[in-house]
Amino acid sequence: MSGTFVGMPAFPRAAREAVGNTTLRGNLRHATHTIRDKRARAVAELEDWAALREAGKQIKDHTLRHLDRYLVQVEDAVTAAGGTVHWAADADEANEIVARLVEATGESEVVKVKSMATQEIALNEALEARGIHAYETDLAELIVQLGKDRPSHILVPAIHRNRGEIRDIFRSEMSEWGRPAPEGLTDTPAELAEAARLHLREKFLRAKVGISGANFVVAETGTLVVVESEGNGRMCLTLPETLISVVGIEKIVPRWQDLEVFLQTLPRSSTAERMNPYTSMWTGTTDEDGPRAFHLVLLDNGRTDTLADEVGRQALRCIRCSACLNVCPVYERAGGHAYGSVYPGPIGAILSPQLRGTGSEIDASLPYASSLCGACYEVCPVAIDIPEVLVHLRERVVQGGPAVRGGNRVVLKPAKGHAAERAAMRAAQWAFTHPGALRTGQRLASRTRRLHPRTLPGPGRAWSGSRDLPAVPAEPFRDWWQRTRGGKGGAK
Ligand code: SF4
Repeated sequence: MSGTFVGMPAFPRAAREAVGNTTLRGNLRHATHTIRDKRARAVAELEDWAALREAGKQIKDHTLRHLDRYLVQVEDAVTAAGGTVHWAADADEANEIVARLVEATGESEVVKVKSMATQEIALNEALEARGIHAYETDLAELIVQLGKDRPSHILVPAIHRNRGEIRDIFRSEMSEWGRPAPEGLTDTPAELAEAARLHLREKFLRAKVGISGANFVVAETGTLVVVESEGNGRMCLTLPETLISVVGIEKIVPRWQDLEVFLQTLPRSSTAERMNPYTSMWTGTTDEDGPRAFHLVLLDNGRTDTLADEVGRQALRCIRCSACLNVCPVYERAGGHAYGSVYPGPIGAILSPQLRGTGSEIDASLPYASSLCGACYEVCPVAIDIPEVLVHLRERVVQGGPAVRGGNRVVLKPAKGHAAERAAMRAAQWAFTHPGALRTGQRLASRTRRLHPRTLPGPGRAWSGSRDLPAVPAEPFRDWWQRTRGGKGGAK
């Protein structure tokens, strides 16, 4: 996955810094609460929401089970429609393919539709190294790019910025990239949007190459689908002469009929709209309409490894709606940057350690970036059981040690720092499989309970510093049961 975030500190350290930033917390709280309330109202309008959710889950599971077949179907359909399909095993390969395609056009500028896949592979940085400038055209992505920042939310990448900060970025940075911000620009949304529109318009009209991702690829016709709210995507997809789309292999749906489900669940879960303002669909190339050359880069970059994990593979159902971020109490306080990936929040906590492996400090810490409250699962429109995957990944980190991706396999490295936890788990396992010893230990703990410390010693102090240790009862439950129920049907 992207090199942009490699070497970032583990989640707890990054989150501690973010939590100390009161402006950031205020921006995040306001934005996430507004979106989550709107989403709840939009979802409540549909009586068959539960059935739609189940249908989305089934369609994605079916597609993932037969992905080999559907991928070939996509390649055949796109080729028959005049497009060219390229296969990229990892980020380097995808970046090389795109850079070569742009170089072949003789251009040194591209316009981009907001795309998680191209952020994942750090395409902009790779193109820049080859002398090709990539201009983001989504408003929030533009703010992130002009501010030399990183995205912090899937849907609203500049969610951590307020209007005053955006005005300042436009005023100081727009002239570096093209048309400057209008004189006397204020922080009203209409003025900020107009400034962005004017700045971007000249880029749309000049660009000969567009780069996009896709929300869906329909296998039966090889049609790509992009949903968006601003219309910038439509400009990027139709004006340039060459269009290059970089798409993760999990974005396929078999039939047009399947879109019926996702075009209802995605807008309601993401922007709380009944339908997307702009839904663009294209199939290969068409004479005298739109781009004359179309290239589809199908990206693996860890997805095949993820697919091999029976529990973890459900993360590939994700349709990037961001509903799980907006309800997550951890994301609301820590913000997106702490997750060290283009995929922040609960979905990032299960996707990044699978796509990248858990070899780095940040990736080994991500499965712990959750209170396991389950709010993410409740809102997920494709029913990804995020807490289940988090626990599964914690087990992988603790038992197997950090797993690092190596080609198409997962390689286990010895774990560091989890020895104490493993020893504690082994001790618990022994106690629970020796009832006599457990009973003796419980009685001993009850008799000595006045001597127990209220905080844990050593590294355990970090845990007990903000929590009360549970009080040990005067009488163990098993003894109480025996005494009051006469030992009937209970503990021995
Ligand atoms: S995990 Fe579910 S809720 Fe979160 S972004 Fe993906 S589809 Fe949306």
